[in-house]
Amino acid sequence: MVSKYPTSSAPGRYENVVHPDRQLLTGISVLIIGAGVGGIMSALECWRKGHTVRILERSHGPVETGQFKYPHILSGMLIYGPRGDFFTVGPSAVKAFRNWPQLAKENEELAYDPWVSYHKHTGEVVVKPSGMTWDGSRGVAPSRLYRHHRPKFYQMLLAQLAAIGVQVEWDHRVIDYYEDIEAGKGGCILDSGEKLEADLVIAADGLGTRSHKLVVGRKIEARSSGYAIYRTAYPVELALADPQVAERFKMLDNGHSVNEIWVGPDMHLIVWRSQDLMSWLITHKDDGTATESWHDRTSIEDVLTFTAKIPGWPDIMNRVIKTTPEGGITDWKLMWRDPQSQWASPGGRVVQVGDAAHTFVPSSGNGATQAIEDALCLASCLQLGGKSNIPLAVKVHVKLRNDRVSCCQYMGFVNQETYQHTNWDAVTQNPDAIKAKYGSWIWAHDAEKYAYENYGNVVLSIISGEPFENTNTPPGHVPRSWKIDELLALQKEGKTLELDGDWS
Ligand SMILES: Cc1cc2nc3c(=O)[nH]c(=O)nc-3n(C[C@H](O)[C@H](O)[C@H](O)COP(=O)(O)OP(=O)(O)OC[C@H]3O[C@@H](n4cnc5c(N)ncnc54)[C@H](O)[C@@H]3O)c2cc1C
Repeated sequence: MVSKYPTSSAPGRYENVVHPDRQLLTGISVLIIGAGVGGIMSALECWRKGHTVRILERSHGPVETGQFKYPHILSGMLIYGPRGDFFTVGPSAVKAFRNWPQLAKENEELAYDPWVSYHKHTGEVVVKPSGMTWDGSRGVAPSRLYRHHRPKFYQMLLAQLAAIGVQVEWDHRVIDYYEDIEAGKGGCILDSGEKLEADLVIAADGLGTRSHKLVVGRKIEARSSGYAIYRTAYPVELALADPQVAERFKMLDNGHSVNEIWVGPDMHLIVWRSQDLMSWLITHKDDGTATESWHDRTSIEDVLTFTAKIPGWPDIMNRVIKTTPEGGITDWKLMWRDPQSQWASPGGRVVQVGDAAHTFVPSSGNGATQAIEDALCLASCLQLGGKSNIPLAVKVHVKLRNDRVSCCQYMGFVNQETYQHTNWDAVTQNPDAIKAKYGSWIWAHDAEKYAYENYGNVVLSIISGEPFENTNTPPGHVPRSWKIDELLALQKEGKTLELDGDWS
C-alpha cells in the first residue's frame, strides 16, 4: 500500500512510501496512552493487525532532546548540533521491522554499528575492540549492533505512524484509568476531566504510569535503584578540539567507531566517539541528588569531583568530560519497580506495556527492546482472540511475556554486577568473562511468532488448569519472583547473583 498521508514530523517524507498491507479489520478499538517507543510500536502493530488505533501523549510535541546550541569552533557563531543519548535496539526487536519496509531501510541507515572494547577503570585494555558477538548457539547470530541516537529513532517511528494516517494527539495528559466490565470498555480520565473509552486501553505511559491503582489496586511508586547515570552526547567536533582526545579516540581503520566499556569499583563508564557524536555515560551510586529529567543539568565540576575519588582514574577521561558543552550533562536517577505479575486490570480492559509494566536498569540493554516485543505480542494476541475475547487475549499476552521480562530485568543486575563488582580472578583466566550477557534466548526470540504458536496452548491451560511453561526464557531456568532488595543484600554480602539454567 502506498501512503497517501502527509506527516507533521517529516513533511513529504513518506509520500509514495510502501508500508505493509493492513490485515483483516478486527473491529477492536485500542486507545494508547503515551507516545514513547512502547506506545508508538503498539500503535503501529495494532494498526497492522487490523485494530483501530488512537494514541494520546501529554507532551506538546515530540520531545526535543535532539538539538544542541553551541558556538562553532572557528567562527564562534551559535549553531545547532545533535544531542540526546543512545540505546541499542536488540535483534528480537529489530525483527519487528521486517513488516515495515520503510522502517527496515531506515533502521539500517540510521543505526550505528560500533565495535566494543572492555577496559579497567584506569583505561587499561582488557578486551580489544571487536564486532559485537552474541552468546549462544540457537539460531544464526546477528552480525552487528543497532545502536540508535534516541531522538532519530523516535522520529523514524513517529513519521511511520503519520504515514499510515495515525496522528499522535499531543497535549493529552491522563490522570487516571478505569474499566467498565459490563460495557466491555477500558477508559482513561484526562486532566481536563474528559473521559475517553475503547475496547482496550494500553497504558504505555512509562515509569510514572497512572495505571497501577487500577491494575494492582494501589499506587506503586518507582524508587531509586541505588544508582544514577551521568549521561551526555554532543557534536564530536567539540571533543576533537582537544588534540589528546582526538588522538586517543580515533575511528578504527575499518571505519567502525569504538564503544569502550570501563569497569570499576561501584561504577562503570561507556565512552563512544562516533562519526558525528561524542557520548559518555557514567553509572554511579545515587547520592540522592540525581533526578529523572532532561531539564536538570549537572556541571562538569560535579562529575570531575566524582571522578577525582576513583583511584587510578586517568587524566584522558577528565579531558573528555571537559569537552562537554556546559549544560549538556544530565545526572539521571535510575528508577526501579520490582517485577510484578499483574500488568492488566481485573477485567482485562486496561493493560500496561513497556516501562509502565516493567522497569529496567540500563545494563540490561533491554527496556526499549522489551517494549517493542510487548507491542508485537499484544497486537497478535488481540488479533487471535478477536473482539469478543479481549480480556482472554490480554491474559494470554501477559502469560507469554511475564517470565521472559523478569529474566531480562534480572540480567540487567547480573551485567551491572559484572561491571561494578568484577571477579578479576575469572577475568584473568578468561577475559571474555568481563562481557555483558546477551544469550541466544534473548536475541533469537521472535515475539510475534511465539504469540501465534503458543496462544492456543495458553488458552488451553487457562481452561484446563494445567500449567503452561514458557520457552522464551533461558532453558532450564525455573521462573521465580524476586525483589531488588534481595539482590542488593546479596551484593552487599559480596555474593554473586545466581543464574540457574542456560543463559548463554
Ligand atoms: C541511560 C539509559 C540507557 C538505556 N539504554 C537502553 C538500551 O541500550 N536498550 C534498550 O532496549 N533500552 C534502553 N533503555 C531503556 C529504554 O530507554 C526504555 O525502557 C524505553 O524508552 C521505554 O519506553 P516506553 O515507551 O515504555 O516509555 P517512555 O519512553 O518513558 O514513554 C512514555 C511516554 O508516555 C508519556 N506519558 C507519561 N505519562 C503520561 C500521561 N499521564 N499522560 C499521557 N502521556 C504520558 C511520556 O511523555 C512518554 O512520551 C535505556 C534507558 C536509560 C535511562
